[in-house]
Amino acid sequence: MNVNLELTDHCNLRCRMCSQSLREEAHGAPHRFMEFETWREAVAGLSDLDNVTLCPHWLGEPTLHPDFDRFVEHAFGDNEGNRRFRHFKLHTNAVILSEARAALLTRLARHERLQPDTFLAIHFSLDAFSAEVYTKVKGADRREGVFRNVERFLEVRGAAERPVAHVAFVVQDGNVHEAAAFVEHWMPRLRASGREPQLTGEWPSMNADAVYLRRWNTSDQAHADALHAAACAAVGLAASPRAAGSF
Ligand code: SF4
Repeated sequence: MNVNLELTDHCNLRCRMCSQSLREEAHGAPHRFMEFETWREAVAGLSDLDNVTLCPHWLGEPTLHPDFDRFVEHAFGDNEGNRRFRHFKLHTNAVILSEARAALLTRLARHERLQPDTFLAIHFSLDAFSAEVYTKVKGADRREGVFRNVERFLEVRGAAERPVAHVAFVVQDGNVHEAAAFVEHWMPRLRASGREPQLTGEWPSMNADAVYLRRWNTSDQAHADALHAAACAAVGLAASPRAAGSF
């Protein structure tokens, strides 16, 4: 069971394809940060559920929470024997990913009192290759820092198997011509861990690093699917038909 406990609905980017960035209020109320006591109780309450995969994100950027490190450290520390959650995954735009935070996340993935595959994956939402296209798609000129942060995370994690890294590129108007450059940039950097990464147009495996050319979820889905197929073709992937109900 996937459980999303949203640390915040604030975001530091304004991606063109994201409903979060298109509204002043994500939930019909001013943006907020979760209180620690709410997090503590919610994590404790996961014990009542079966086989939980916990994700501290829904509409906002979780690392923007001022106490993000404390919150995730608490969750892992309170999960002895995986009594609270079986798996954990993180989605982030990597704008705020210092070396210290990369080291913390890698350390939590090796927590000695948890199953070794507890911290499954980090999904990095990047969506562009050049700074120019990044700024247009993501609404802020943060490309250089973001790429440096993800590359440093990969160095800090090194050959450790967890968490796997998925670098994602939502194919859309204005970035499809950069899909090949994005793949060429990230595949060798993922390979440096010593394992062969996946190159995929569908949701990647939770057991491998991946470059993920992701479908844009939009009102004109036929157009989005055509863009996705073009990006996949540009990197030698066969795009499969969109599964009903997928996003
Ligand atoms: S970084 Fe994520 S939450 Fe923020 S606007 Fe972009 S897609 Fe939406």
